[in-house]
Amino acid sequence: MYKVDFLESARIETQWPCPACGAASASVGVSVDTGMVELGVQELAQCGVCGSWFFLGEDPVLGYQDDVIEPKYWIHYVQVGAGIDAMLRPVMALGERARGTFLDVGCGFGFVPDFWSKSGRGEAIGLELAAYGKVGKRLLGAEIHHEYLAECEAIRGRKFDFVYSSEVIEHVRDPQGFLKELAGVLAPEGMVMLTTPSASCVRKDFEETRLHSALSPGFHYFLLSAERLETLLEAAGFAFHVVEDNGERLTAWASRVPFEKPGPKPFDWEEYLGYLEKVSERGDPHLKGGMLYRLFKDGMNTGHMDVARRAFPRLEEHAKNAYGIDLNFPNISEALQSPDFLDGSEQYPAWLGGALFMAGIYAGNELHDAQRKLRLLEASTHMLEHEMETGFQFAQEAAAFLPAATYNYRMALVELLSTEIPRGLDREVPNVYARPDKKQIKAFERRLLELAGTINTFARSGLAKWLQ
Ligand SMILES: [Zn+2]
Repeated sequence: MYKVDFLESARIETQWPCPACGAASASVGVSVDTGMVELGVQELAQCGVCGSWFFLGEDPVLGYQDDVIEPKYWIHYVQVGAGIDAMLRPVMALGERARGTFLDVGCGFGFVPDFWSKSGRGEAIGLELAAYGKVGKRLLGAEIHHEYLAECEAIRGRKFDFVYSSEVIEHVRDPQGFLKELAGVLAPEGMVMLTTPSASCVRKDFEETRLHSALSPGFHYFLLSAERLETLLEAAGFAFHVVEDNGERLTAWASRVPFEKPGPKPFDWEEYLGYLEKVSERGDPHLKGGMLYRLFKDGMNTGHMDVARRAFPRLEEHAKNAYGIDLNFPNISEALQSPDFLDGSEQYPAWLGGALFMAGIYAGNELHDAQRKLRLLEASTHMLEHEMETGFQFAQEAAAFLPAATYNYRMALVELLSTEIPRGLDREVPNVYARPDKKQIKAFERRLLELAGTINTFARSGLAKWLQ
């Protein structure tokens, strides 16, 4: 696991120039202990001229050879790692304008070109050098080439209406050269869409797993500032551009011709969920499970309960058939022994913790089964914790869900206890949790434990664990 330290006093670094602007005056503000033999401790500096952050050294990037990437990486990626909705955001923000030919440079598994063509927007081609591009080509049936842009025969001499490149530019040594290459395959009135980690997320109070992912030492050269990206786009011939910085990621739209600012059109969840539904019909069990999990989770989170209600029994059945997991009486003791989150995801899907959590909420709200809700929520807290301990920067979803799962588990426990103990205890609960006074909560919890002698064993064991 990485250890990120923000340095107390910044040292001025002049040996290594900023890869984003070439200036040789940066202050070293962060050190990252990568825990990897090849990389050791890496230092990160902020450019005094353009504000971008970059890794110091001759070559801080390991390179994307297939043997560097976990061979099973794609399984985790389709199960939970791929933020498909986030990838589609730049496209969705364009609304009806997003029609025509589409090239995705560094398309990964290929979800975006697959979405583009399956949604009837036009022809779409993806380029990907990492191994999971080959897997995506096979499993999605998308047109993906395992070649460099400059060497790809299939697109030689062609110009595309849209050129998209998500989370790629930070992996290249020469961002200006990369943008010029993209400009070379863009139609005269076409539009380039980019996303990349934002320099603004390099700060102490930024959520740890997301910071680790944005930094990705050994894979990323830099985190661009919004201003620098705008300058780079202009220098590549794009006189018109919009760069959004949401504090974690930059999203850019750029063209040689004027265009209407994208958004604020709301994200089209129906179209997104419809796409997941289509992909969930494909044969590969990991891909199918990942789509069913997203359908269920995102259906619930976005209020599309009809989608969630259709997805849940399919997810339940699939969890049982493909992984032997019962989403009613989950036995996760073996999954909790799995030493490596990424490596273990072939056997225990990386969405297990998240699915247990969402299924727990669903059991309460939709199935009105308080016991099942408690069972699933309790299991989810253990599973999510385990995923964080073994998954590190790959456990972003677990990190996001754990606080809510823990809170909901405790509330479910209190709810179940208070319905079975007719002492008006339920009226005390909101007060105790509204004012998070540790002493008061402890006293309340002790009282619950005493009273728990009268209730079912399951809740009692859960409560005892909670108070440990
Ligand atoms: Zn710079």
